[in-house]
Amino acid sequence: MRKYVIMGVQGSGKGTQSAMLCAGLDMVHISVGDIFRWHVQNHTKLGAQIRRAMNAGELIGDDLVQATVRDRLDQHDWNFGFVVDGFPRNGRQAEFFMETYDIDGVVHLEIPDDEVRRRVLSRRLCPNCGMDYNLIADRPEVDGRCDICGHDLVTRADDTAEALDARLRDYHAKTRPVLELFRRKEIVYDVDARPPADDVQETIRKLLGLPSNAPAA
Ligand SMILES: [Zn+2]
Repeated sequence: MRKYVIMGVQGSGKGTQSAMLCAGLDMVHISVGDIFRWHVQNHTKLGAQIRRAMNAGELIGDDLVQATVRDRLDQHDWNFGFVVDGFPRNGRQAEFFMETYDIDGVVHLEIPDDEVRRRVLSRRLCPNCGMDYNLIADRPEVDGRCDICGHDLVTRADDTAEALDARLRDYHAKTRPVLELFRRKEIVYDVDARPPADDVQETIRKLLGLPSNAPAA
């Protein structure tokens, strides 16, 4: 069984890399963000707590995050392992997590803040059909118009330079102690997240000693 943690700032491609890593290796991708979205969409008790925190402009508390991850892992549907994304958030959680689950490796996607700004601030969303665009990689055919439904595209409310800088500061402040703790156990694999997604995935698999994802030549 393989147990990994993936760490990286928003815009580092963490979700994409986790999904690619799980595909074909029968691992379960445990994304805190996805679990939260599911709870909000399905109006669960947890979803109501999350919505309250978001409406108040607060970050979702560490205890709530920890309870969510524990609850998810208790479902024991990960016979071949898991990739956890969005956890742990502090040193205490990291300590608990390492002791409880005996983590095999921590993939740390590295990307300079300037590149994060470039990627995140170029995101656009269709408020009508939910289609995502990116002015660098995924431009709409007509500027500012959704390819699918023709609606005007918008920027997400929290994708402003100020909000992003605040998130970056928060991320670095919280991540540093977690990474230091993992580094002491010598299980951190630093990966340059700037190359194309397929190349990043190959690097990750090589470092973790996993079979290649590339189609056989
Ligand atoms: Zn649309």
